[in-house]
Amino acid sequence: MKPVRALISVSDKTGVVDFAKSLYNLGIEIISTGGTARLLKENGVPVKEISELTEFPEIMEGRIKTLHPKVHGGILSKRDNPEHIETMEDLGIKPIDIVVVNLYPFKETVKSEKSFEEIIENIDIGGPTMVRAAAKNFKYVTIVTDPSDYKKIIEELEQTGKISLKTRFYLAKKAFNLTAHYDAVITDYLFKVNENGEFLTEPPEMRNPLTITFEKVQDLRYGENPHQRGAFYKEIFIDEPCISTAKKIHGEKELSFNNIYDIDGALNLVLEFDPNKEKVCAIIKHANPCGIAIGNSASDAYEKALKVDPVSAFGGIIAFNCPVDENTAKLITERFYECIIAPDYSEEALDILKTKKNLRVLKLDSMDKLINKGETSPFDYRKVVGGMLVQDRDLITLDPEKLKVVTEREPNENEWEDLLFAFKVVKWVKSNSVVYAKDGIAIGIGVGQTSRVDAAKCAAKKAKEMGLEMEGCVLASEAFFPFRDSVDEAAKVGVKAIIQPGGSIRDEEVIEAANEHNIAMVFTGIRHFRH
Ligand code: 5GP
Repeated sequence: MKPVRALISVSDKTGVVDFAKSLYNLGIEIISTGGTARLLKENGVPVKEISELTEFPEIMEGRIKTLHPKVHGGILSKRDNPEHIETMEDLGIKPIDIVVVNLYPFKETVKSEKSFEEIIENIDIGGPTMVRAAAKNFKYVTIVTDPSDYKKIIEELEQTGKISLKTRFYLAKKAFNLTAHYDAVITDYLFKVNENGEFLTEPPEMRNPLTITFEKVQDLRYGENPHQRGAFYKEIFIDEPCISTAKKIHGEKELSFNNIYDIDGALNLVLEFDPNKEKVCAIIKHANPCGIAIGNSASDAYEKALKVDPVSAFGGIIAFNCPVDENTAKLITERFYECIIAPDYSEEALDILKTKKNLRVLKLDSMDKLINKGETSPFDYRKVVGGMLVQDRDLITLDPEKLKVVTEREPNENEWEDLLFAFKVVKWVKSNSVVYAKDGIAIGIGVGQTSRVDAAKCAAKKAKEMGLEMEGCVLASEAFFPFRDSVDEAAKVGVKAIIQPGGSIRDEEVIEAANEHNIAMVFTGIRHFRH
């Protein structure tokens, strides 16, 4: 059926004048709301005001413009239903065949930090109502919500005089996608603030993950493997330093799916450390650290981290919690890395890094928020086939007051420092994991073994292979020791202090083993499984 009437009410007025002109030239009557009608008239498009159609004024500062049976009857009526036709004739309702609507810019209003009142005012009511009505009635009505569809619609009308059912159905799906996303964005925002519009400082309540809203950053070349499709989405309301807010300032190649995942692992790890207290460099492979160290400068931290496993470091990701200087940049360019991420780079450092065409250089944009993370992205999601697991992010930090020494021997001052360092590191290593540390270097990192004792053995073997001195080191385990075997292994390589959550039914046996070997042992009461 040839469309005879279109209702146009848009906030984003991109391309609407030309579109309306073309519709008019095709013999379609244009009805429009306040601001849109004004713009069209100014540009010479003959328009009927919505109030002429409804015989009711736009009221309450535009809160009520199109919410009227003459509008919704015109959109929702079945054109071939005798009862609907009779009702329309009786009540003077005219069919509306094309609905062109896009919605109040809610997200943009939040992002521009307008007042809470203004943000609430930007919750569109009449727009989504029309969009949903028109989309539901796609059998008869065309709903246009995206200016990039204007051209196609005019072409189809010019060629065939109508808009096909196939196009109408496609546009209806797009329309419901828009309103679903629009409401999710509103929900996402409202869950982040209190009734006065102040951002919550406490983690918000758990909720349906579908109301956490994302927007696409980019399509990726592929997913984890070349036969899988991939894309990267970022949370809409996020401003903490993370991979989503990092800026790529150099590097010809796009980031890959695996790069992004690994950078996330790297950042989680280095952001454990306060850059005002300690400078940290981590080298990451497949989301696990293969080197991490504290240094008295960025270059010192890097050199120490590299020593842990220079073989695995090849093609890895490097992350710093502190700015990168010229000297560090020189050292980095001696080897092959995929990406580097840091809060900042000196000009000289950047010039040096830029000589590596394919090295992706990323900068975290909000240094001041480095430590205070977690406010805006409090949940962690794991997709399982046919479902989704939701949990709080693992943001707990150790309270030194609550640590309990359970052995006869107490750790000395150096050992305490290494224990706290190693426990922060082991938190971001895939389970089962253990980390040996000495003088602020994770000299042995046992990654993702199916038994804890194997993690302990692997890490020690590697440390020895790398020629790293283990005597006098400490050991951190991300979960409790189920048996005394790992403690016995630790003693063999020279461990003097151990940190672990505790809580095993064999804790007594494990403590006894530590006492036998004169090892100090600290219980944290906190476990950090990472699957
Ligand atoms: P205009 O600039 O034409 O005055 O307003 C266009 C916007 O108003 C569109 O984004 C549309 O979604 C919205 N709109 C249309 N009808 C109503 C209504 O009855 N109530 C509210 N709150 N918004 C409406």
